[in-house]
Amino acid sequence: MGTERPRILLLGPPGAGKGTQSENLVSAFDLDHVTTGDALRANKDMETEYGTPREYMDAGELVPDPVVNEIVAAALEDADGYVLDGYPRNLSQAEYLDEITTLDHVLFLDVDREELLRRLTGRRVCPECGKTYHVEFNQPETEGVCDACGSELTQRDDDTEDVVNERLDVYDENTLPVVEYYRDQGELIEIDGNDSPDGVWETIQSTLE
Ligand code: ADP
Ligand code: ADP
Ligand code: ZN
Repeated sequence: MGTERPRILLLGPPGAGKGTQSENLVSAFDLDHVTTGDALRANKDMETEYGTPREYMDAGELVPDPVVNEIVAAALEDADGYVLDGYPRNLSQAEYLDEITTLDHVLFLDVDREELLRRLTGRRVCPECGKTYHVEFNQPETEGVCDACGSELTQRDDDTEDVVNERLDVYDENTLPVVEYYRDQGELIEIDGNDSPDGVWETIQSTLE
């Protein structure tokens, strides 16, 4: 049997809603969610020859390519259809990705910087199941408690205003060229991500139909 499930790359700045829309894509198309951010957070204190991921992540810097490339190669090897989120973040990662897989769709969620700041500083996450919430825009049924598993929600170490600003600068410098890279190949599907979560999901669905 051939593979029918799509291989989707979701690009966008920190806070654009990649994790939120990935959840929708995973349910709609029965995909694996491959996300370097979650994988790194689960291994934040792992010793590598470059130090631990934490040293980079808490400062808002990129974790060195060899570490993230290895994570992605292992995850994609086991995946049939997937949504890839948080990778590639620079051109050398994009070139590496070209060598190990073929993408069916490249989606780019574009969101204004001011809105990104509001989204990131108000983000809350479930440390147990990874579900994402927002204190204003995406509240759980009971304040501070995960709808899915009942755990207490937390704020990510890097969702403070200083680190958020650094991450957005790192994005402009390193990851915007990746967006250009796919745009030049004529593969980029641009989506206005400033809309509500449901509005953005409707746009994504209509572009994939
Ligand atoms: P990313 O994975 O791109 O960093 P997330 O999906 O974690 O982004 O979303 C960042 C924050 O913004 C979260 O708190 C999330 O609940 C909220 N959010 C996601 N999409 C929207 C949206 N369309 N409008 C308002 N808030 C959103
Ligand atoms: P967001 O989507 O909100 O920026 P992520 O969870 O994707 O956050 O990433 C959190 C941090 O993990 C990044 O700031 C960076 O330090 C590290 N990271 C995640 N993906 C990569 C990657 N592809 N290359 C290098 N570092 C990464
Ligand atoms: Zn949970």
